[in-house]
Amino acid sequence: MLRAENIFKTYQKQQVLLDCNFQATEAKLIAIVGASGSGKSTFLNILGGIETPDKGQVFIENQAYLSLSDKEKALIRNQKLGFVFQEHRLLPELNALENVLLAVRIGNKPIDEATLRAIEIFEILGIKGLELKMPAELSGGEKQRFAVARALINNPTAILADEPSGALDRKNADILHQLFISIRDSLNKTIVFVTHNEDLAAQSDEIWRMKDGQLHRES
Ligand code: ADP
Ligand code: MG
Repeated sequence: MLRAENIFKTYQKQQVLLDCNFQATEAKLIAIVGASGSGKSTFLNILGGIETPDKGQVFIENQAYLSLSDKEKALIRNQKLGFVFQEHRLLPELNALENVLLAVRIGNKPIDEATLRAIEIFEILGIKGLELKMPAELSGGEKQRFAVARALINNPTAILADEPSGALDRKNADILHQLFISIRDSLNKTIVFVTHNEDLAAQSDEIWRMKDGQLHRES
């Protein structure tokens, strides 16, 4: 469903990824762990088509994603991938619902249908009733859950999350992880997430470790 083959990436003279391979199947919670600076974010960004590798290919549902034009890549990214970052990245001037629907407007999809879908997602994420609040009126955990809702709104194949609980306290980190489990089980999504939290990694279907520029599956 999501596959990366022979990914190489060098910044200036620093070789960050050296023949990195990865694959993910449907409805899996997959943790990527590794030391700070080992290349986890670089890899996730390449997987999502945000950064371009020097060599290698990414396949999304068997389509060679990195060979597409920038415009086609942007379309696939909008339709098939959802992104969550350490910071929520909600726009402060839009309410929570408008923030989530922005991803739908970019893809030119019908808004009425998406609004109904948004409400269903808010219910799963435990944030229904908060959708008309502005980001500044929400707690950190609530904001991050709306960021997850935004990642889900276009019904993507997979969610890519770079240290999604990195800025949350222990309680909210646990809640977010349980929500990822719900998203996997009730919506059949695959979530690939980078974490420093060994407990959360251990509660995943797979752990992949980034080391010496390569990813190896540990469990
Ligand atoms: P991680 O997410 O595992 O902490 P990163 O993927 O962010 O690691 O970074 C891997 C290495 O690549 C680091 O040494 C970092 O300094 C370097 N790096 C990342 N992005 C850039 C960039 N845009 N320009 C130059 N070096 C970068
Ligand atoms: Mg990182």
